[in-house]
Amino acid sequence: MKKLLILGSTGSIGINTLDVIRKHSEKFSVSALTINTRIDLLIPQIQEFKPELVVVVNEIAAEKLRHTDGIKCEVLSGVEGLIYNAANCDYDILLGAMVGFAGLLPTIEAVKRGKRIALANKETLVVAGELITKLSKDYNAEIIPVDSEHSAIYQCLIGEKIEEVEKLILTASGGPFLNKSKKDLDNVTIEEALSHPNWKMGNKITIDSASLMNKGLEVIEAHWLFNFPKEKIDVVIHPQSIIHSLVEFVDGSVKAQLGIPDMRLPIQYALSFPERVKNDFPKIDFRLTRELTFNKPDLNKFKCLQLAYDTLATGGTAPCILNAANEVAVDKFLKGDISFTYIPTIINKALDRIENHRSPDLETIIECDKITRRFAENLI
Ligand code: NAD
Ligand code: MG
Repeated sequence: MKKLLILGSTGSIGINTLDVIRKHSEKFSVSALTINTRIDLLIPQIQEFKPELVVVVNEIAAEKLRHTDGIKCEVLSGVEGLIYNAANCDYDILLGAMVGFAGLLPTIEAVKRGKRIALANKETLVVAGELITKLSKDYNAEIIPVDSEHSAIYQCLIGEKIEEVEKLILTASGGPFLNKSKKDLDNVTIEEALSHPNWKMGNKITIDSASLMNKGLEVIEAHWLFNFPKEKIDVVIHPQSIIHSLVEFVDGSVKAQLGIPDMRLPIQYALSFPERVKNDFPKIDFRLTRELTFNKPDLNKFKCLQLAYDTLATGGTAPCILNAANEVAVDKFLKGDISFTYIPTIINKALDRIENHRSPDLETIIECDKITRRFAENLI
């Protein structure tokens, strides 16, 4: 029986993870759940999965939960609670499903305890890839990707020699604006940006998918997970999201991993690895499969993807600046304060203005995130 700490249990990945656990209750159990505010969603999770401990970062929501009838588990709050929990609670696997930079500190605590990290929270690797990969080696903590593209690559690489890999090819659905002209992007609405054609996800990643920043973050994530230079990480548009990613070898042979777009599959794989476990999730029927198509991404239209590649070339804290500016810009877009095409403008300005630091330690990363947010918040 493997015990899980789920960071972000009320989000899209968190809810899918709990469904995997529900379906394999003989293999997995829940030690602790952490969330930001939504105790209305957390209460039924506590009743069903009976964690020993929960963390509600928002103090007011945490206090409300403590006064809710029938809640017997310990309730911690604040970022301190989040860190304490990751550093002390009894668990085997940390499922990182928080969104954004906020996931970094608890993930580092789990790495330092040599836990398995099932990682959905890609921002953690984007902002601190060098640090996390070093710590994970030092403390023998395996990082198994949950992101569907990286899970696909991870699966394709098994049994292969790294020096025989020519390139990694990440697939991207292209999002809701794939066929819009560059000019039309100026006027897209929040609702349009939030209607992803293939996946039902949290708001931040849905906007990132529409701007292709999500793919940019994934290029950086792939760089750190698999230790490949950016020249060997390609992106191809594949609107059907059936092929989750591919690996090309030196002899020209290509391996791919395919599946219905359902995050429970990569989540389950990250939990059960190296075993595969039977499940009742929908499967592909190739006799009914529509066409599978591929295209080049338009880097001129989707500037965020190019910016992400650029920060990988620059290195140091550049990806941290990219991420912090993007988090602020997406938030502004979702509040209706800026247009969709102003997102890369904010990121560009932050990258131009904020000083870069090589091989940053944790303090430098935290400081860089703070400074960038302050700068980006003040831009209109
Ligand atoms: P979501 O917005 O649906 O859920 C986020 C969760 O994190 C919630 O439980 C929320 O309470 C918690 N949270 C948010 N901010 C927090 C904070 N400051 N402190 C503590 N907890 C906080 O997001 P999601 O779609 O589930 O995505 C989660 C992560 O997984 C993201 O990094 C995303 O890029 C990645 N991811 C998601 C999908 C997907 O299909 N949703 C696929 C691949 C990767
Ligand atoms: Mg992905």
